[in-house]
Amino acid sequence: MLQILKLFCNFVAVMEDLLRSKKLSVTDFRVSVLEIFNRYSSAITSDQIESELGEFDRITLYRTLKTFKEKGVIHEIALTDTDTVYALCLDDCIEDEHIHHHEHVHFKCDNCGNVFCLDIPAYPDLNLKGFRVDRMDIQVFGKCEACSC
Ligand SMILES: [Zn+2]
Ligand SMILES: [Zn+2]
Ligand SMILES: [Zn+2]
Repeated sequence: MLQILKLFCNFVAVMEDLLRSKKLSVTDFRVSVLEIFNRYSSAITSDQIESELGEFDRITLYRTLKTFKEKGVIHEIALTDTDTVYALCLDDCIEDEHIHHHEHVHFKCDNCGNVFCLDIPAYPDLNLKGFRVDRMDIQVFGKCEACSC
């Protein structure tokens, strides 16, 4: 029990540091939303966040997600034929003028429907002469670890 409590305290401290590093004030609500993200290994929909929160104010949640997106705490993933999902930004996310630069791919499992942010060894350099690439979203479809065994 003490161990769990200790882990939880550490977790809250980590989330508080994350908020502060993004120059966001620490509120209980923000921490609990981050806690929900941390509970999942996959990206989640706003419906999932809502059901996990139980009692909440919809406008506060909407604003929180918007702020998190703008500050590079979370990113929105809009895959073809899939509900929009959200995931925590990984360490390598550079958020610049509200454009997220991630060097990972988005994998959607055709079986369970979960969407994952996955690192790849090398991100492709497209070398498009005369064109400036601001964003690149690599979508991968298949079966996730849990579904493929
Ligand atoms: Zn990001
Ligand atoms: Zn799956
Ligand atoms: Zn991602």
